[in-house]
Amino acid sequence: MSVSPVDLSSHEASLLASVPTGLLIGGQWRDASDGGTFDVHDPSNGEVLATLASATSADAVAALDAADAAQASWARTAPRERAEILRRAFDLVIERADDFALLMTLEMGKPLAEARGEVTYGAEFLRWFSEEAVRDYGRYLTTPEGKNKILVQHKPVGPCLLITPWNFPLAMATRKVAPAVAAGCTMVLKPAKLTPLTAQYFAQTMLDAGLPPGVLNVVSSSSASGISGPLLADPRLRKVSFTGSTPVGRRLMADAAQNVLRTSMELGGNAPFIVFEDADLDKAVEGAMAAKMRNMGEACTAANRFLVHSSVAAEFTAKFAAAMGALVTGRGTEATTQVGPLIDSGARDDVHALVSAAVDAGATAVTGGKPVDGPGYFYPPTVLADVPNDADILRQEIFGPVAPVTTFVDEADAIRLANASEYGLASYLYSKDFNRLLRVAEQIEFGMVGFNAGVISNAAAPFGGVKQSGLGREGGSEGIAEYSTTQYIGIADP
Ligand code: NAD
Repeated sequence: MSVSPVDLSSHEASLLASVPTGLLIGGQWRDASDGGTFDVHDPSNGEVLATLASATSADAVAALDAADAAQASWARTAPRERAEILRRAFDLVIERADDFALLMTLEMGKPLAEARGEVTYGAEFLRWFSEEAVRDYGRYLTTPEGKNKILVQHKPVGPCLLITPWNFPLAMATRKVAPAVAAGCTMVLKPAKLTPLTAQYFAQTMLDAGLPPGVLNVVSSSSASGISGPLLADPRLRKVSFTGSTPVGRRLMADAAQNVLRTSMELGGNAPFIVFEDADLDKAVEGAMAAKMRNMGEACTAANRFLVHSSVAAEFTAKFAAAMGALVTGRGTEATTQVGPLIDSGARDDVHALVSAAVDAGATAVTGGKPVDGPGYFYPPTVLADVPNDADILRQEIFGPVAPVTTFVDEADAIRLANASEYGLASYLYSKDFNRLLRVAEQIEFGMVGFNAGVISNAAAPFGGVKQSGLGREGGSEGIAEYSTTQYIGIADP
């Protein structure tokens, strides 16, 4: 297929015109100190959607000034008040769901139906943490010796730097901002330069919900290290929470070590999707479609390695390829579109290079396998069979709509292959035998495991990985702990 350039509709143009284009510092939207700007593009046709102020290092420091100035009074604000701001923000995001969805589709490319799904998921962090804000329990106990007392309480960690990726422009922001607000932290948010519009619109929504000036500051910028460098070196910053690739996370951890900062790192993944011989194959294909194709495969939780028992591999692959081959690719705003473009031409080239190398190494493209002509960065849903176990495509994050299938002979073999990765974020297991599912979950090194489920992200669950997939958890009751510090008070025999 080919995709032709699309002009913005008047509705799209008026929505884009309503997005703040400045930096949010101390409750005011303002220009960059040097007047610099950068463009945001539509990945379905490469056209410019908007031009935003590009924060300088001085602007980043000004944002931290504002966060630092607001920290003490924000920490004293009643938990109920913080909770109510989050709850109002939840209501506003839901009220503005169509706008948020369209913005994400325009700047990131995902189909509108998926963007609406992200609004629901992303908004839920605001509601979940509005409920968690008032349930921050400490403890009071007697020492084992019997006289003195121990009092344990939590405090906000202090001003935080939040850095988010381009693939889930709303949810990655709410997953950090909501627990930070709930815990009483102030923050500087740096969205990804490829998809900052949703975060800008979300920041205005937080102000509309009553968030006081200086609590949330936003410094979109074309220079990521120009923002993180001075902030990580500033002793007023107390924490960095990062979602993105493992190489960048590693660099930020090294920089954060200078001031011994608290860090939360949500990094890359290389999820195995294991289909045992007793699995319901139709359900496994349905789950595989969700685990692979959500966000065009541009997700850290995306199934990357389909490990299928050799006795059912041919049947699973045929059904999976038929479902993948039937998907409709196009601009995300079209009602018929099920697969949007990848984020940019580099992403498309990287995906195709992995596919070509796998085919050269002996894999077969059962469906897809060739980039789509025309403007926009489209890649067709692809299923690769007979992928050699040492192929690069099984080692690296694919970040595209490509499913490599390989086989295993028994449970021990499946576990060994699943663990043969430096990543340990999401994993998916399909079997009708619950004991087997639990037994395998015990032995695989992943922070998250889906049992007969292709989508497992939920605001109430602790999201995060082990090994080089990162440190810390977002969501659940664990999410707020990332933004709290523990103080112990020893009380002499009262
Ligand atoms: P990226 O690491 O290139 O960028 C992430 C963010 O870091 C962006 O805001 C970017 O501007 C910023 N950044 C880049 N270089 C920087 C530097 N030197 N200093 C400071 N900031 C810098 O990742 P990406 O391409 O935006 O996102 C895709 C990656 O994110 C994938 O690896 C994916 O698996 C991962 N991801 C992880 C999760 C998770 O929760 N574990 C969720 C979504 C995405």
